[in-house]
Amino acid sequence: SGPLSGEQKPRILLMGLRRSGKSSIQKVVFHKMSPNETLFLESTNKIIKDDISNSSFVQFQIWDFPGQIDFFDPTFDSDMIFGGCGALVFVIDAQDEYNDALNRLHQTVTKAYKVNPSIRFEVFIHKVDGLSDDYKMETQRDIHQRANDDLADSGLDQIHLSFHLTSIYDHSIFEAFSKVVQKLIPQLPTLENLLNILISNSAIEKAFLFDVVSKIYIATDFSPVDMQSYELCCDMIDVVIDVSCIYGLHEDTGAAAFDSQSSSLIKLTNGTILYLREVTKFLALVCILREASFDRQGVIDYNFLCFREAIQQVFELRSKNQVAYNSSSQA
Ligand code: GDP
Repeated sequence: SGPLSGEQKPRILLMGLRRSGKSSIQKVVFHKMSPNETLFLESTNKIIKDDISNSSFVQFQIWDFPGQIDFFDPTFDSDMIFGGCGALVFVIDAQDEYNDALNRLHQTVTKAYKVNPSIRFEVFIHKVDGLSDDYKMETQRDIHQRANDDLADSGLDQIHLSFHLTSIYDHSIFEAFSKVVQKLIPQLPTLENLLNILISNSAIEKAFLFDVVSKIYIATDFSPVDMQSYELCCDMIDVVIDVSCIYGLHEDTGAAAFDSQSSSLIKLTNGTILYLREVTKFLALVCILREASFDRQGVIDYNFLCFREAIQQVFELRSKNQVAYNSSSQA
């Protein structure tokens, strides 16, 4: 079975100096904490294994390390920590002086690469909400240059680092995590193809396949992603889940806020439609389309059902006794 099912979960490590923002990222992305609440988080001083695999499609664990961990300490089991890890996210506080962070990044990457050369290295240049656009670009260029120079100096220029500008105060942190997670999904090309086929046959402008809990999109069609569309879709998920939690839960039945009947349609005054449908227990499709295209909702719904079946086959989720399609009930 593939890494998305069962025991072999791709693991993401979240590392970085103390106060760089690791716990905040984890709380905001995976536990719906609002960014302002992170001001009062206790600083991390132990390894936290946060297993979110019970609530999320994206089955991975976040290991939050204290900033001052010593790789040469014999109790630090780097084989175990880096060995089965898919991606290492290193967080750098861009509002602070980052010499120390760059040193630690270099030390971490070198060590991790020795243990596991297939690990992907992702650098989050974080807290960029405080920086002007020019300064953001300049900081990214500088960090990129110096980190790669350090690797070249150690004869390790085969190591590839990816860089992302992030902040918990906007959607950039979700977008960055989406890209990190997508690289760990072996079925991604298939998912993208299925989304392309869906949108081109349904006059849909943009479609995202979302992990509902984290609002990470695990795939989208080939058209470029603009932040505004992504934010709109994230907001829609929040609305649907909130309304569902407030009005849709019955204590006696134990119904969940998101289930196979989940579906929602939002019409904006500018003639845009947002359309959400449940795909699996954890995944939702969110589409953006023109109101005129929605005249043919029958076609869209039919295409959606074909799409859902294909996705379920990709992940081998379809149970054998599931014969009939469930048509939607509006949330
Ligand atoms: P950790 O020690 O790496 O886990 O860092 P914390 O998550 O405790 O964050 C340290 C501080 O940075 C907290 O006061 C957060 O509110 C703040 N912080 C985290 N992310 C951001 C961000 O994107 N922008 C800004 N301006 N502050 C942030």
